Amino acid sequence: MSGDRIAVVGGGLAGLAAALECADAGADVTLYEARTRLGGATFSVRRRDHWIDNGQHVFVRACSAYLGFLERLGVGELVSLQPRLRVPVLREEGRLALLRRSGLPAPLQLVSSLLRYRPLTLGERLAALRAAAAMRRLDPDSPALDEQSFAEWLHGHGQSDRSVTALWELIALATLNLRAAEASLASALKVFRTALLETTDGGDIGAATVPLQELHGEAAAVALADAGVRLELGAPVRAVGSERSGFRLELEQGAEQADVVICAVPHQVAPGLLPAGAVDADALERLGASPIVNLHLHYDRTVLAEPMVAALDSPVQWMFDRTSASRVSHGQLVTISLSAARDEIRLPLRALRERFVPAIARLLPAAASAELLDLAVTREPRATFRATPGSRRLRPVTGTDLPGLYLAGAWTDTGWPATMEGAVRSGLAAAKLALADLSAASSAGGRPELAPLSKGSS
Ligand SMILES: Cc1cc2nc3c(=O)[nH]c(=O)nc-3n(C[C@H](O)[C@H](O)[C@H](O)COP(=O)(O)OP(=O)(O)OC[C@H]3O[C@@H](n4cnc5c(N)ncnc54)[C@H](O)[C@@H]3O)c2cc1C
Repeated sequence: MSGDRIAVVGGGLAGLAAALECADAGADVTLYEARTRLGGATFSVRRRDHWIDNGQHVFVRACSAYLGFLERLGVGELVSLQPRLRVPVLREEGRLALLRRSGLPAPLQLVSSLLRYRPLTLGERLAALRAAAAMRRLDPDSPALDEQSFAEWLHGHGQSDRSVTALWELIALATLNLRAAEASLASALKVFRTALLETTDGGDIGAATVPLQELHGEAAAVALADAGVRLELGAPVRAVGSERSGFRLELEQGAEQADVVICAVPHQVAPGLLPAGAVDADALERLGASPIVNLHLHYDRTVLAEPMVAALDSPVQWMFDRTSASRVSHGQLVTISLSAARDEIRLPLRALRERFVPAIARLLPAAASAELLDLAVTREPRATFRATPGSRRLRPVTGTDLPGLYLAGAWTDTGWPATMEGAVRSGLAAAKLALADLSAASSAGGRPELAPLSKGSS
């Protein structure tokens, strides 16, 4: 592998995982990142005396590739994982409900909690258990599952509107960033099976205990340097051209050559960068984007007694205590994460304040008498692609028709929704395929045969 020049374009989790994997195998790797920091869609900004993340990121214990990536960065200790899945569910002026697992083997670990889940009637709880059992019988690889919406399937399996919003969407909305009516059944199935139906502990929730920038971007910069990766920050690649002897990367200042390119930029960017025909631009446009908005509320005292809660019958979806992770020195930092936030993405701060500050006070009585020291908002209009019915066939596989050009990114066909786990998996898959092709070419006595296709040709 030594001597093969691999260019990784994009320093999000996919590009970082790919670059490290290639460098660990002995390749000569350069990583080009447009921004002046690493971490892509996961970053933090300074706010007064503390940090806020661009959006609350959580993962589950079943995210094995992501957890392995953190270990590779040497920051496995900087996340916390629940010893057992436990989600308090708050209702405005209502009683608390709890979703938590027992130690029983999957899928029995949630049965007793579901049977006691107060937001639903007993009939709805029993119907939910039957639907979960039916889910286990679905073939996750069946393409037909990606043609149907999750809500359609739930309704067809005896789930009331209330069950959809008060149970299934608690998880689906936060993980798919779409309402159940818009989300593909296949994507939802991936989430529920992986996290809840296949292993006892796969759904235990984890989160960073430090600002995201420190966990990913800063740790990766150190790991890349140690692994001998040349890092080009603030270096947007303008175009990748294919030549007989490899690839030519057009940068703001000059051009550079590579034998292999792993393209790990967002799906909206890839078509404009790559040789014409390397990706299906129309399909990627149809993947679309779904927004996420986070509100970061700094109170003068503790108002939320739990590390995280979900909310029902409220504009609030999920709330997290980020005080320690954000290095807040006094009071409490509560972050509200709003998925599929098509409304909220356009609302000015004042309107968000009017909608959410009273809503929080109705959920958390302590907030009503607390002083709100600061309210910040982070908006990500293109947070994730839309895992709608039919989206699976819009997601490209790792290899392209151009030998030596590989795709990575949470949007590639990983089988996972747009997650950190999907991003890391895609990067590892691209690196492994690139390394295998290079190794096969070198045993055959040469580099992979590169087609003479350049940007602009068809
Ligand atoms: C607000 C928010 C909340 C989220 N919550 C969760 C969550 O709770 N759990 C979860 O698992 N996932 C969550 N996600 C999704 C997760 O963050 C993404 O799926 C993942 O980080 C995407 O990684 P990526 O490497 O595929 O892409 P990106 O992170 O988008 O990386 C692409 C990189 O390419 C760079 N780039 C673009 N153009 C060029 C160019 N021309 N040249 C060089 N570089 C270029 C970009 O600057 C960027 O750094 C969330 C996302 C957001 C935005």
